[in-house]
Amino acid sequence: MGNRTDTRGTSMSDDAVRTDSADEAEFRQKVRSWMDEHLPRKRTSNLDDGPLSIHPIPMTPRPRPSVAEELAATKAYQSALYDAGLAGLNWPTEYGGQGLPNRDVEIFNEESAAFEVPATVLTIGLGMCGPTVLEWGTEEVKERYVRPMLRADEIWCQLFSEPGAGSDVASLQMRAERDGDEYVLNGQKVWTSGAHYCDFGVVIARTDPAKPKHRGITMFIVDMRAPGVTIRPLIQITGGSNFNEVFFDDVRVHDSHRLGPENEGWRAAVAMLANERVAIGSGGGGRGNALRPYLDAARARGLDKDPVIRQRLADLYIRQQVLGFIGQRTRAATKAGQAPGPEGSIGKLYGALLSRRASDLGADIAGAGAQAWDDERTDSRWAMAVVGAPGGAIAGGTNEVQRNIIGERVLGLPKEPQVDRDMPFRDLVVGTQRG
Ligand SMILES: Cc1cc2nc3c(=O)[nH]c(=O)nc-3n(C[C@H](O)[C@H](O)[C@H](O)COP(=O)(O)OP(=O)(O)OC[C@H]3O[C@@H](n4cnc5c(N)ncnc54)[C@H](O)[C@@H]3O)c2cc1C
Repeated sequence: MGNRTDTRGTSMSDDAVRTDSADEAEFRQKVRSWMDEHLPRKRTSNLDDGPLSIHPIPMTPRPRPSVAEELAATKAYQSALYDAGLAGLNWPTEYGGQGLPNRDVEIFNEESAAFEVPATVLTIGLGMCGPTVLEWGTEEVKERYVRPMLRADEIWCQLFSEPGAGSDVASLQMRAERDGDEYVLNGQKVWTSGAHYCDFGVVIARTDPAKPKHRGITMFIVDMRAPGVTIRPLIQITGGSNFNEVFFDDVRVHDSHRLGPENEGWRAAVAMLANERVAIGSGGGGRGNALRPYLDAARARGLDKDPVIRQRLADLYIRQQVLGFIGQRTRAATKAGQAPGPEGSIGKLYGALLSRRASDLGADIAGAGAQAWDDERTDSRWAMAVVGAPGGAIAGGTNEVQRNIIGERVLGLPKEPQVDRDMPFRDLVVGTQRG
């Protein structure tokens, strides 16, 4: 596959451009013109992320914007994108989407990869919650929530993990008890990215503990500012504080905010987790200049002639390309109308392993400079990358869990023994529950 660089420095695939139909070429031009008018081009890396990111590696040396600044920038960008008819490209038109084919989403991603897009805080909402609400929400709910989500007037989070239920999230203990037209939610969630700035969340809770653990769960939309919701920040090793503990004390949710049938929330949760793996694992596209910051750092320290460093730079480049191709394959499947499947785990796992490898290389190039820990110093980005990378091996399902999924559902290996699968949840010894 050949690559070329156009006169303004855009790196793109020749093949992608060559296969555009006339309509697609026109759409590509529209996206590029809009991006050029509204956003700066990337300075260094297509792995670059801000402090609110779920991606572990911030690559551009710069003072961190505050949460308020990043939210304001995101909202301004997304509402302008919406007004230009470029948001929700393949979402239904009746809820504010554009109803365009998935190929146009791919073109948008290819073109936007060259720009500093301030939309990381929308990954969970648009990548995971939106498709879930569209699939499982009632007409009334879709009418109310999808458009403001697309415009980033309202930002969403995902409330799945609990202190005793992470990899095995079906062991969750949070209760939702029916009371007339409402459910009453009690319990605790943890590691909730962005809860402190989000307006709404998708939550799963146990509605029938007499059923086996996967069969007594229901999914709801919850207002993050409802009475009884308490959000407490958790400080991360990076010094940032992007995720939270969220406590629910008699939080009332109307039945109309149930997503899917009662006790069948597990199906919706599995679909949302598959979208999560794709949202985290298959972005990028393998083009752009992701090698640039490593190369620049090596040159600055006179290591660009070092044969070992050169070998590792080449290895990183190759792996970045492979990740891009995995992403293309996932998007091609989506384009062919397939829902995200277990193959999404391959990109998620590969991306997490690559982040670790890349941050190690950056730290080795920077040497003692990688110990720097203030935002103003160029080398501090490597320190941040090293401590941030392990989170990528946990968020969205750990590396071990992705390997289990790939083994069982892609390679067809025997399933792990699940002795508790058919037992009533209330009889299990999980979390704080002692059977
Ligand atoms: C940056 C970040 C952002 C996050 N954001 C969110 C969010 O927005 N919303 C949310 O709900 N959650 C979020 N999480 C939580 C995340 O989904 C969980 O941390 C993850 O699923 C792992 O669960 P756990 O931490 O409870 O670890 P555990 O499940 O307790 O795992 C502990 C260890 O045991 C291993 N292990 C567990 N089960 C198996 C098995 N069957 N086979 C082999 N090994 C196994 C794991 O791989 C891990 O090494 C986030 C986490 C991170 C790091």
